[in-house]
Amino acid sequence: MLVIAAVGEVVQPGLIHVVEDCNVYVGTLETFIEDRETVRETEPYHGGSIDGKDEGPELGFWELDLRSQFPVLFVPYKETQIRIPHSETIEKCPGCTGRGDIVCPTCNSDQEKQMTQCLACQGRGLIAHGDGSDTMCTKCNGKGKIPCATCGSCGLIKCEKCHGSGSLLTRSVAIVRWKTFSTRKVSATNGAASVPDEVFHRAKGVQLCNTQAYQCTPAFFADSYFLNKFSSEVIADRASVPPTARVICERHAINVVPVTRVTMAHRGRSFCYYIIGFSREVYLKDYYPSRFCWGLCPCLEWLKL
Ligand SMILES: [Zn+2]
Ligand SMILES: [Zn+2]
Ligand SMILES: [Zn+2]
Repeated sequence: MLVIAAVGEVVQPGLIHVVEDCNVYVGTLETFIEDRETVRETEPYHGGSIDGKDEGPELGFWELDLRSQFPVLFVPYKETQIRIPHSETIEKCPGCTGRGDIVCPTCNSDQEKQMTQCLACQGRGLIAHGDGSDTMCTKCNGKGKIPCATCGSCGLIKCEKCHGSGSLLTRSVAIVRWKTFSTRKVSATNGAASVPDEVFHRAKGVQLCNTQAYQCTPAFFADSYFLNKFSSEVIADRASVPPTARVICERHAINVVPVTRVTMAHRGRSFCYYIIGFSREVYLKDYYPSRFCWGLCPCLEWLKL
């Protein structure tokens, strides 16, 4: 169970047994990338001018100028789509081989006046009754046949793919995505190792380094072998970049979060809690009153749980 409270409420120093420093380091590496791909987009062509190769050469998708669309660096995600200039082509619709119509799939005929047998009267045109009399079938008006419901007995229906135009317009569209990949690493001393990482990720600390480069290299601290090693480990954890993407820039930071472990003793039993960050949040691993004092004394009232 995770319990967070403000430390300003702590007012029972008589119970405090040991206070230890166990600072925690949080390292981050953000990799900001741009990914581009093209897709072909097709729509029915109903005539008119097109932006094809007669207008100029078609640009490759990495040649497109997207400066006006460019987002703020390190945004989590942004996507944009643009038509690639001069990429439009016209082709015969493969669905109807350019005719605009296809043979009716219901009556399976391209002949006009193709009729189907009336199911109500089985083609007789008459409906038989129990008393031996017949009346004219109202479904087919006594003809015994009805027009095809799909094509109205024209034999042909409009091609869906080209909306009957017989031609398709196809163009290339570039899909551009900007993304930030993040890696985070927490280096906790033995004492603080039992505190979940997310508590440190949220806590405010002091920034020890913050660099931005096309490709970040480990930070150098002249007086700390530990920090140099930690920085190298964060950089080595770099997220893998998809082959269709290029890196725009990276940002690397290391923060130290002050953590104090306080051990409290009471009647021969002890438990500890952590005071984390400059916002001085308290992290307490277990909910104690029930186990520590069986609810008989108000020893944790200061936590206002
Ligand atoms: Zn039909
Ligand atoms: Zn009928
Ligand atoms: Zn078609």
